[in-house]
Amino acid sequence: MESVHPEDDCLFCKIVDKRLPVGVVYEDEFAIAIEDIRPQAPVHVLIISKKHISGLLDLEGEDELYIGHLFALSPKLAREKGISEAGFRTVVNSGKWGGQTVSHFHIHLLGGRPFFWPPG
Ligand code: 5GP
Ligand code: ZN
Repeated sequence: MESVHPEDDCLFCKIVDKRLPVGVVYEDEFAIAIEDIRPQAPVHVLIISKKHISGLLDLEGEDELYIGHLFALSPKLAREKGISEAGFRTVVNSGKWGGQTVSHFHIHLLGGRPFFWPPG
C-alpha cells in the first residue's frame, strides 16, 4: 500500500512508497518498519506510519488509531529481534528540543544494550 497523503519532499513518504531503497523489517497496511541508517544501539528499528503525520503535535481525526497500531507493533518486533527479555526502549522525538529530525511520525525501537535515565 502506498503512503497516504504523500509529501514530495518527505524522506519517510519516499521510503513508504519505496522511492528510496530500503531494507524492510516489517510491513502491513498501516506501518513499515526499517533499520535506522545510523543505529544508536545493536537493534535500532524505525516503525513508520504509512500515513504522513508530521508528528505528535499534528494528530487529527483517527490518527490515534495509527499511533496505537504502531505502538502495539513494538513488542512484536522486540520479540522478533530478540530484545524483549532483556528490555528495550521505544522513543518518539517531538520537535526541535525533543530531537525530531524527520517530520513524519515514527517510533524508535532500540535494544541490545542497556539504556539509562535521565536520557540526556
Ligand atoms: P528523529 O530524529 O526524527 O527522531 O529520527 C529520524 C531517524 O531517521 C534518525 O534516527 C536517522 O538516523 C534516521 N534516518 C534518517 N535518514 C534515514 C534514511 O535515509 N534511511 C534510514 N533507514 N533511516 C534514516
Ligand atoms: Zn511523510
